Amino acid sequence: MDFSKEAGNKVWAAFKDMKVYLEKSYRVLTDVDTDNYYTDSKGKKMYDGVSTLLNANIGHCNKELIEAVNEQFFRLDNTTLFTTTNDAALRCSEKLCKLTGDHYYSCFFTNSGSEACDTAVKIVKKYSYMKGMKECGIVSLKGAYHGSNLTAMKLGQGQYENEQYFNDCSGYYQIDVPSYESDDEEIGKCLAQYEELIRTKEIGAVFMELIQLSNGVNILPESFVKGMYDISKKNGVLVVVDEVATGFGRTGKMFASEHYGIRGDLMMFAKGVTSGYFPMGGVLAVKEVYEAFAGGSEKLLENGFTTGGHPVGCAAALKNIEILERENMSENSAEMGEYLLGRLKDELGGSFLVDEIRGKGLMLSILFNDYQIIGMPEFGIADILTNFAAGSGLLLYPDGPDTMIVAPVLNISRNECDNIADILRDCIGKLEKCVKRRDK
Ligand code: PLP
Repeated sequence: MDFSKEAGNKVWAAFKDMKVYLEKSYRVLTDVDTDNYYTDSKGKKMYDGVSTLLNANIGHCNKELIEAVNEQFFRLDNTTLFTTTNDAALRCSEKLCKLTGDHYYSCFFTNSGSEACDTAVKIVKKYSYMKGMKECGIVSLKGAYHGSNLTAMKLGQGQYENEQYFNDCSGYYQIDVPSYESDDEEIGKCLAQYEELIRTKEIGAVFMELIQLSNGVNILPESFVKGMYDISKKNGVLVVVDEVATGFGRTGKMFASEHYGIRGDLMMFAKGVTSGYFPMGGVLAVKEVYEAFAGGSEKLLENGFTTGGHPVGCAAALKNIEILERENMSENSAEMGEYLLGRLKDELGGSFLVDEIRGKGLMLSILFNDYQIIGMPEFGIADILTNFAAGSGLLLYPDGPDTMIVAPVLNISRNECDNIADILRDCIGKLEKCVKRRDK
């Protein structure tokens, strides 16, 4: 097998400048083991410190899950919701709704979080249209990431150079987002922006990640979330909660919504629903929204994906949720998350490179000050740290030049947390010797 950089061009990687990636950090993974160590094509072993991308929640190579998937493959390998429903999808939807105390009533299955976002936007638009809204505006929060398809990018505007992808971004509005350090006045200003939008535009829905992964794991203040929720309910605006990254135990509860005591009208999920063993996502809807789409061809939701509700994906999700619950992984995520946060603060908090370390459960981030590697202005600290850490046997994800995401599997042990903190301490120690303040 050809693992050369030249051959690497054959796979166009996600959000990457392929030239820089192939030159500086190209890596081909070939194996993984039950201890969550990946092996690359050069035989290098690396602990998965980011659960693939916050989806391998129960860990890799889970025999029980693989057997459940296998069994499903042999029993009913492939169906489509375009023609028929399958029993695994029925059981899976029922279980997902149950996890929310049956707050949600029905599930629209997709293959990814991005498709879940697109589906949620379509539900919101048509639902609002049927309620008499002519131009349904949608509000999202600054710093949001809801996926990479065109609709999701509109919601996440500001994260990317959107102009190049859209001629028309009208109808999508963003409001400022507070952080957990914000005071009441700041939070009040954000809420006032939302109220002003509702007063001056037709707004059908607000999309919220309650803990924003791609905003350096920004934990929204409780009073802000409650305020947004109350304003939405008072004004008949649908609340769409994005639990794609936060769901399935990641933040120390089954869903981040539980930290805030709210539930939306729609909930997007993906990633941890199958722990990455099968591509799957979806949108859970409350009964009132679901029922609005029945009773006449003009009410139809024109939406569907050939492999949405795939029986094997649903079997993977069911077994995954069974394992998460049986092994108390949300609880372990809360406990180990606190422990790892403490260890990271102890080991790295004193470094002049580190601005802040924060997180909830096992969704953690390290935010760096504005330094650059001497002679390499194109890279941020997080980029170089990723390479150093990989060299020391730890695979992490830099979400931008100055932010490192740390999000290991939910059944991690104390020793493994210690290992992550030790490797990062040593790597940051090395980095401190070869940086300078970034030129303004
Ligand atoms: N929403 C959030 C909060 C995410 O973090 C992501 C992916 O990282 C998505 C949506 C998109 O999910 P996917 O990559 O499965 O399309």
